[in-house]
Amino acid sequence: MSYDLVILGSGPGGYSAAVRAGQYGLKTAIVEKDPKLGGTCLHVGCIPTKALLHTAEVWDYFQHAEEQGIRCQNPQLDYPKVIDRKNQIVARHAKGIEFLMKKNKVDWIKGYGVLKGPGKVEVRTAAGTEMIETKNIIIACGSGARMLPSLEPDAERILTNIEVLNLTAIPASLAIVGAGAVGVEFASIFQRFGTKVTVLEMLPRIVPVEDEEVSKELERVFRKQGIRVETGARVEKVERTSSGVRTRVTLASGKQEDLDTDQLLVAVGRKPNTDGIGLETTRVQTERGSIKVDKFQQTAEPGVYAIGDVVAGTPQLAHVATMEGMVAVAHIAGKPAQPVNVRRIPGATYTEPGIGSVGLTEAEARAQGYKVKIGKFGFMANSKATILGRHDGFVKVVAEESYGEILGVHIIGPQAYELIAEAVLAMEAEATVDTVRNTIHAHPTLYEAVGEAFNAVYGLAINA
Ligand SMILES: Cc1cc2nc3c(=O)[nH]c(=O)nc-3n(C[C@H](O)[C@H](O)[C@H](O)COP(=O)(O)OP(=O)(O)OC[C@H]3O[C@@H](n4cnc5c(N)ncnc54)[C@H](O)[C@@H]3O)c2cc1C
Repeated sequence: MSYDLVILGSGPGGYSAAVRAGQYGLKTAIVEKDPKLGGTCLHVGCIPTKALLHTAEVWDYFQHAEEQGIRCQNPQLDYPKVIDRKNQIVARHAKGIEFLMKKNKVDWIKGYGVLKGPGKVEVRTAAGTEMIETKNIIIACGSGARMLPSLEPDAERILTNIEVLNLTAIPASLAIVGAGAVGVEFASIFQRFGTKVTVLEMLPRIVPVEDEEVSKELERVFRKQGIRVETGARVEKVERTSSGVRTRVTLASGKQEDLDTDQLLVAVGRKPNTDGIGLETTRVQTERGSIKVDKFQQTAEPGVYAIGDVVAGTPQLAHVATMEGMVAVAHIAGKPAQPVNVRRIPGATYTEPGIGSVGLTEAEARAQGYKVKIGKFGFMANSKATILGRHDGFVKVVAEESYGEILGVHIIGPQAYELIAEAVLAMEAEATVDTVRNTIHAHPTLYEAVGEAFNAVYGLAINA
């Protein structure tokens, strides 16, 4: 077979690129090693975690129903049913991607793809191997969980994002190593389901890529909710015991502790899937396993592109993978391609309270020499937040003093991951602080807090 484009991997990067290639009329194939399309994001990442986070939120409302004047007698959490619902959501969307492949005339080739020099991909299946010829290749192989040294996951006690999503019962206690987005989201799920959660983070703060004030607020609220948070904590040793896992940890104080929990979740980052895909048969260059690309996602091998979690220098997020796919395919098809601007990538963490952020943190802006002005508005004074009973958090705007350029926006609070959209669009459109201040925000909404934070840049917030 001969194609214009062969894509390795069907995660959000790969499948979206395939659809766009079909729309542009390129003869396209997608090679996927797993039996279903959708990748990490759909099967063991974004979607199943958000399904569980939603159930955790609903359950939390049930737990505090009396606050709303609702008397609920003995509500019960049927965990196998919770997992079943999560699986149905995933299955429905996997079918959706299959439909999209057919609709856009993309061939789905089942098997493990390996590059065999320029223009050649070998697909390995149980039945044998097949060689495909193609003008262009997009590597969209994604990533897998990093493990602690000399530790292997299992289905019961030492878990990664894969195993933890398939537990059949809620653990009584859970230690989570790593407090990036993945670690804190699982903490937020299981704490609300009743698990005693301990978060162990080696760095001085949780969600370390966020603005420092956001980290501080999440830690404060997590503690209030009953999550034990240990920052500056180093895991020394992990061993399986007869009843669970014992984690030896050196705490920030220097004190050592043996922490006994039912299970341990390792969430210490993601490793790009670039081993064993034949990169050595090409001129593709890597940097600690991640693939180096130019602004059009081209590798050093002409006709070979890379997108998503395998790429060096952009955050490992589904929407980044998708947009990088759009850029690569547009470039291949000779259409206008707007490179991804790292400063305009939203981050979204779906904890309670949630986090949404874009652009520079206050510390980054100051370090880059900007004259910074900050506007901050707390959800305490937002009427919709009161209606929801969700008062923690704030919106923080990092602006440049002389022209009101928006350098960054950092939100922690109710539905922060939705609210951030306004800030992302404002930055993409190169709007200033005044543009957002003059934008009419409907009342009563959570996003009025965004408008007020922009007012606060000039000390003009009404409700503060
Ligand atoms: C628990 C968790 C929660 C997350 N939540 C979010 C979130 O809420 N929002 C967000 O933006 N991001 C989230 N992420 C990150 C997100 O999942 C990734 O950034 C995203 O999946 C990357 O997309 P991708 O297309 O690069 O690769 P992937 O989604 O990893 O897909 C890669 C695909 O390639 C296939 N593959 C690999 N090698 C080969 C080969 N040689 N041949 C054929 N097929 C191959 C794999 O089987 C896989 O299907 C989360 C991640 C985790 C682990």
